[in-house]
Amino acid sequence: MTGRILVVDDVATNRIVMKVKLSAACYSVLQADCGAAALRLAKQEQPDLILLDVMMPDMSGVTVCERLKADPETADIPVILITALADQGSKMEGLERGADDYLSKPVDEITLLARVRSLLRAHETQRELRLRERGYAGFGMAEAATTFDTAGHVALVAPDKASGLTWKRALEALGNDWLNVLSPEAALQDSGDQPMPDVYVIPADLVRPNGGLRLLSDLRSRPSTRHAAALMLLPKGDSERGAVALDLGAGDILYDPFDPAELAVRIKTQLRRKRQSDRLRASVQEGLELAVTDSLTGLHNRRYAMAQLKNFLAQSGRDVAVMMLDLDHFKSVNDRFGHATGDAVLAAVADRLRKHTRPHDLVARLGGEEFLVALPDADCETALQCAERLRRAIGGAPIHVPRLDTTVRVTMSVGLAIGLGHKDTAESLLEQADRALYGSKSDGRNLVTISASAA
Ligand code: GH3
Ligand code: MG
Ligand code: MG
Repeated sequence: MTGRILVVDDVATNRIVMKVKLSAACYSVLQADCGAAALRLAKQEQPDLILLDVMMPDMSGVTVCERLKADPETADIPVILITALADQGSKMEGLERGADDYLSKPVDEITLLARVRSLLRAHETQRELRLRERGYAGFGMAEAATTFDTAGHVALVAPDKASGLTWKRALEALGNDWLNVLSPEAALQDSGDQPMPDVYVIPADLVRPNGGLRLLSDLRSRPSTRHAAALMLLPKGDSERGAVALDLGAGDILYDPFDPAELAVRIKTQLRRKRQSDRLRASVQEGLELAVTDSLTGLHNRRYAMAQLKNFLAQSGRDVAVMMLDLDHFKSVNDRFGHATGDAVLAAVADRLRKHTRPHDLVARLGGEEFLVALPDADCETALQCAERLRRAIGGAPIHVPRLDTTVRVTMSVGLAIGLGHKDTAESLLEQADRALYGSKSDGRNLVTISASAA
């Protein structure tokens, strides 16, 4: 994986040692020799990761970290603090100010590189999501959905109830977050309607040697837990398996014996990252949905309709019915009541079409006052009945427009074509349906006409 890493240290030798290690693993390295330079370079160069010395003459690494996290332009860049200090106080301070991890000098190479890989991977995912989100924003999409910082759901996976409860008590510092002790079996069960945990805390040797590592792989492979964060607890000094855990997708690792307060802070960091990517994923999803949805009616748009019609036809051996539906003399509705009322009528027509079709039928607005309905599995008789039902659903009762407290009468003409996957294309079926629609219009409107090739 390529990645640009900013190494910050006031001692040139330290920077060079770090650069050699990182360059050997094919990362490109930028260097800063003080806190001020680090802040400037981070902003200018947007590195993918920052390795930050804590003890520097101009300002402490903890302060640099705090400033990086406070600036929206650099807040997303992961930070690893590096220090000779073994003191727990400054370690906790760094983590609380938003550092992703804390490594002690001399830095263990395996741990360092595993950390770097894991943070770069997370950062890359985040950046891709952000790019896509921005793409949709440029497309005229609505602002991203905002999610509230609700309490997080943390699962402590424990070999037995007693040890789970001991942790739970020790983690009271987590405050409002919802802590749950789970057995290894329960951790893999999808509760269905209940939300899955946001963060799993898992001992590496759960029940049996490497049991926790296996559980981690399992969680990462299942759709319902794939996006959850995991924090792995390892025996003291087991940096080799710590690296494996990170490569398997653990967001963080912690060695025994640990301070519960440190575990709590690390859980908080994982929760924060998980929420951020959930929010991004939701807004990308929303963008995707908006890209295939007609905003006035909430129906699918033409782009989606054509793709879905092709899917229907690709399911071999089934008749696919395609209807083109067009409101009659709709121009006069606009002329008499105004464009806004016309819009309200279009939305009401869409509701009626939806109400009179089945969930797996395709209902779309092709544009203007023209709609498309496709039935994936309909013979001629059924399709004709459906077309008649839809025609009556629109023309049979006037549409109430609350804004004007008035009712508008509209009728709808329908053209119907029926095709089979191996001989018809989406385009040819639409053309047939369109010709049949033209027949309905010229025969007086408010009619259903079936295409000559289907009848
Ligand atoms: P016909 O029975 O032959 O289909 O007559 P028509 O008036 O419905 O057809 P025509 O294609 O001449 O005009 C369609 C009208 O639909 C023109 C336009 O004012 C109106 N229209 C198209 N899109 C919208 C829309 O998004 N909102 C509103 N309010 N009106 C629309
Ligand atoms: Mg029309
Ligand atoms: Mg028209």
